[in-house]
Amino acid sequence: MARRALITGITGQDGSYLAEHLLEQGYEVWGLARGQANPRVSRMRKLLADVQVVRGDLLDQGSLISAVERVQPDEVYNLGAISFVPMSWEQAELTAEVTGMGVLRMLEAIRVCSGVSRGGSASGQIRFYQASSSEMFGQVSETPQNERTAFHPRSPYGVAKAYGHFLTQNYRESYGMFAVSGILFNHESPRRGAEFVTRKVSLGVARIKLGLANELRLGNLEARRDWGFAGDYVKAMHLMLRAATPEDYVIGTGRMKSVRELVEAAFSAAGLDWEQYVVTDQTLHRPAEVDLLCADPKKARAQLGWEPKVSFDELVAMMVEADLHLLRDGGDPHDDSSWP
Ligand code: NDP
Ligand code: GDP
Repeated sequence: MARRALITGITGQDGSYLAEHLLEQGYEVWGLARGQANPRVSRMRKLLADVQVVRGDLLDQGSLISAVERVQPDEVYNLGAISFVPMSWEQAELTAEVTGMGVLRMLEAIRVCSGVSRGGSASGQIRFYQASSSEMFGQVSETPQNERTAFHPRSPYGVAKAYGHFLTQNYRESYGMFAVSGILFNHESPRRGAEFVTRKVSLGVARIKLGLANELRLGNLEARRDWGFAGDYVKAMHLMLRAATPEDYVIGTGRMKSVRELVEAAFSAAGLDWEQYVVTDQTLHRPAEVDLLCADPKKARAQLGWEPKVSFDELVAMMVEADLHLLRDGGDPHDDSSWP
């Protein structure tokens, strides 16, 4: 019988790539979708015709219990979150509720539905994946960061993710649940939200190239990140849940680039000189910045056999190319039905 997966955050970037990957692996895939008339659900249905939808919200404990009861999943991937760091200062409480407490509600739904009690065993249970984030490292104490590096989150988002991370670990230790966290570094794609810097840059380049804009306003150009391709990273999520033992893993490329290098690469992919168009804007700087993040993914390579396939330059070129196509065809960057 096909394995059954339930994905929260199905309408997001990672939800779409993960669903495609699991469908290819022969899974029956269910997506948890919130809202009475969430327009992203109908758009998602176009992209992922084979995904079944169950209603639920990470803010609503009962809805998660009902969803788990209805779907009877073998695996749950908790990708739903308020995921944009600046928004987490504007809506700190909502971020704590969805990105932090949402993890507790999902774990409780699984625990209650599978009748797990203290001292249980991990076999035969629903396996749980938590989307932890490199933002938990925040102000880093060492570089590169591995599974043992201390956390010092620098935003309400990072703090909420740290709560979810420790809670996942705690449910594994308290109840013997097969519950793991992937500490994923930034991963991007043509489906990335337009507010994140990579997509903001690829869309900005495409607009300038097509004569639709003549400048791109950005914040801190010196921040450095370890950027990879989302399509590669969702495979690591699946490998973690199929591993023999429940363990946490750092997932990234091990290479860091600055926002300035990102901008250079994106403009040059379109044959443009970035210095003529990029304007730095102090209002886009953050109250507390994460200066650098760089993964040490050795454990994932050794134990899961996972490696990223798409390089930074290939990723940037892919995103610029996709946004040129999108805008040339008159597409709307906020409409997921035009996702490549
Ligand atoms: P997106 O922002 O693209 O997707 C977030 C998803 O969360 C959306 O599907 C959204 O659904 C859903 N969601 C928001 N609020 C709720 C709620 N109350 N109940 C249920 N679902 C909700 O994120 P990504 O796909 O990029 O990331 C997936 C996960 O991985 C997130 O948890 C993110 O924090 C984490 N992560 C991402 C990284 C990255 O670089 N992309 C790095 C490390 C971690 P809706 O359509 O209803 O708004
Ligand atoms: P994050 O790492 O999850 O916060 O992902 P983002 O893509 O939002 O930001 C990555 C880095 O780019 C951060 O250090 C930001 O400060 C920096 N950055 C510089 N200018 C911008 C901008 O205009 N928008 C965003 N989103 N980030 C910017």
